[in-house]
Amino acid sequence: MRWFFMRVMVCAAFLAPGVCCRATAPSIEPSAGTPSTNSKTTSQPCSPILIYRDGRLILHTDLPPATAQATLAKMKGALRFAEKHWRRRLRGSLDCYVAADASRWPDKAFPHPLARVWIDCIGGATVCEPLPASSGGHRKATVYASTRQGAAPHEIVHAYCSQTFGHAGPDWYNEGVAMVIGYHDHNGHGVQCPLEVLATLRQGSPQTVRQLIQPMSFTSATYDSLALMAESRKNLQGQVPKSCWTSADSENLAVMGKAYDRSWSLCYLLLHDPNYQGQFRRLGSAYLAGHRPSYHQAFGAMHEELAFDYKAFLLHVDMGYRVDLCSWEWGKTFRELERSDSRSRTIRAARGYQATGVMVARDQCYNYEAHGHWCTSATASSTDADGGAEGKGRLEAVVMHDYQLCTPFELGTSGSFTPPTSGHLYVRCRDSWNQLADNTGTLRVAF
Ligand SMILES: [Zn+2]
Repeated sequence: MRWFFMRVMVCAAFLAPGVCCRATAPSIEPSAGTPSTNSKTTSQPCSPILIYRDGRLILHTDLPPATAQATLAKMKGALRFAEKHWRRRLRGSLDCYVAADASRWPDKAFPHPLARVWIDCIGGATVCEPLPASSGGHRKATVYASTRQGAAPHEIVHAYCSQTFGHAGPDWYNEGVAMVIGYHDHNGHGVQCPLEVLATLRQGSPQTVRQLIQPMSFTSATYDSLALMAESRKNLQGQVPKSCWTSADSENLAVMGKAYDRSWSLCYLLLHDPNYQGQFRRLGSAYLAGHRPSYHQAFGAMHEELAFDYKAFLLHVDMGYRVDLCSWEWGKTFRELERSDSRSRTIRAARGYQATGVMVARDQCYNYEAHGHWCTSATASSTDADGGAEGKGRLEAVVMHDYQLCTPFELGTSGSFTPPTSGHLYVRCRDSWNQLADNTGTLRVAF
């Protein structure tokens, strides 16, 4: 079962209120950012469970204080990201249970009987239950998470959505966005996720955007199994034992985990590519308002561009990959060069392919010149368009026709080329796709 302990953050969010336990939660004594000890744990032979309160987040955890504060900071970061993205403040506060060793927590320290199964077997879960009508029909979300990378921030996103909006959207959106925010790197370092996520994307045939954006749930098998566990425990005291988790549950979870990874990939692209950010935000707002726009309504107008961009993302994504720097300039105008005509464009080293505005014809010869210098890292020597060692920094061209790219071909400081196909000409500074951010300099390229 090593997989569960290495795997990050596969959660089962939004369990129905009917499976909620009514056990009493530990008492909380607000203490303005300093931890308070849960008095119910004092007689238990386990690490102390402390309660940290920071604004609207209440963290119950057995982590050492410094690690707990760091976890709380990541959870706050996720909440800030969510509030900014969906443009609404969290309604109320959130109780969060983050356990380093759930087996050592007293049963009554968890307000839900499935807590240990969620934390130890799955990675996390968020429970949302309606409050009494006297409270205005609001909802209360509670977070359970392991200490694995991204697990607690991921659940914060679910809790924020369920408590603030009451809707979450289809699984691909709900889980994909929670993963993106859960792994979000606030230092602008691009893609930062477990290597297992990237491994999933490189296995088998890639799915299309249309296949990914489907209303079917990929969490239902696990959800149903957990609901059965809770139901069978209804009249019993204490936590559902981990022995209730079966090999079939593990198999379901493995399948679900791959769907999570693929959802992450699409949501990551849509959230970071300036071509789609606005539409993705509008789609999300519709989902959280309880609507379910069709694929055509959501992306019909940009279907071909998105299909191209998603394929390119899968081809190039790696740790540190910056979607914003590799975004295609779909709005640029391209025209053929007349005989006495010339066209020039400034090309940045710290970007992917950039539109030249030149529409080229197959088998026709074109002259070009590139002036200036650029660098492919903070420590590399600057080069001209001929590049340096191993071809890094070389001016490289590609032609797009009908959303297909020809094989890239080399340019340099000056010369001529004959494109292998007709279409729109793009150029870039050759470098690893996940190492563009530290590039500096520009070239002025004229055709
Ligand atoms: Zn989730």
